[in-house]
Amino acid sequence: MIVSIGEVLIDFIALQEGKLKEVKSFEKHPGGAPANVAVGLSRLGVESALVSKVGDDPFGDFLIERLTDEGVKTFIPRDLERHTGVVFVQLIGARPEFILYDGVAYFNLKPEDVETALLERAEVVHFGSVLFAREPSRSTLFGILEELKGKVPLSYDVNIRLDLWRGREDEMLQDIERALKLADIVKLGDGELAYLRDNGISPEDFDFKLFAVTLGAEGSELRSGGAEVHVPAYSVEPVDTTGAGDAFMAALLAGLHYSNMVGQEAIDGEQLRKIGRFANLVAALSTTLRGAWSVPKMEEIVLMKEVRELYHRSKR
Ligand code: ATP
Repeated sequence: MIVSIGEVLIDFIALQEGKLKEVKSFEKHPGGAPANVAVGLSRLGVESALVSKVGDDPFGDFLIERLTDEGVKTFIPRDLERHTGVVFVQLIGARPEFILYDGVAYFNLKPEDVETALLERAEVVHFGSVLFAREPSRSTLFGILEELKGKVPLSYDVNIRLDLWRGREDEMLQDIERALKLADIVKLGDGELAYLRDNGISPEDFDFKLFAVTLGAEGSELRSGGAEVHVPAYSVEPVDTTGAGDAFMAALLAGLHYSNMVGQEAIDGEQLRKIGRFANLVAALSTTLRGAWSVPKMEEIVLMKEVRELYHRSKR
């Protein structure tokens, strides 16, 4: 089982284009990057679980129900002090912008909320940077990762949300560097890579088993050991790119799972290319539907070439 740990929240997506200030109505969707990855994995046929926290309120009920409907196992206690997280999302063209709300349940994740035995048995534990932005979730997550380092492969989607770190960017960079030292599998967007480099953090200086950079419509780059590949994007007409990075992340982990490469020290160029093609395909298809839970189900794509290369090999 692949276990994601981090925020689960309601995305309120604007129903009109233009500035958030002008928008009149929003539609309620489940979201949060680690939750999106857990759902993506489940849709791709990989057993997945989510560790998070929601409020004792109707939005918490909604999220737990939707995750359960998607086949994700939930380890999500109710917070009696704080409400479920919400985000307002505005689409300008096809690019999303976010306002993330503070003081919400997932930032209140405490060590006693987390079943360590579940994490120790996981095939991979996946996380992002959002929980680092506030306490006590920051200390809880670092504590877990430091405990698991070397025992369970750790997957990190850097997912920089500068809004959460206004005036504390140096702290954010220190936390990202600390997390990069713990991670085995790392994914980030090309904009995030440029930002980290501009601030003196170079992913080449770390020892990842797999490093992936997403390039939007240009596809992705994957590195492992001495191998490095650029994989062009799968061509589609995007409607909504919200969650494309999360869809890519889920497919990257599913690709590793199906090619039995999760525990490998290094992956060769040919296998990297297959995993990259699969991840680009899944991410591209996710942009043709609205919302963050738009990963196709395995049975819908199983006959496609990019999927057969990986999936059928694992089923032989
Ligand atoms: P997010 O904005 O969701 O946080 P991100 O910036 O990490 O994500 P992108 O690089 O925009 O993600 O996209 C992730 C992947 O989705 C790309 O590597 C690519 O495979 C696919 N993708 C994104 N945009 C397009 C597009 N216009 N056409 C085809 N594929 C796309």
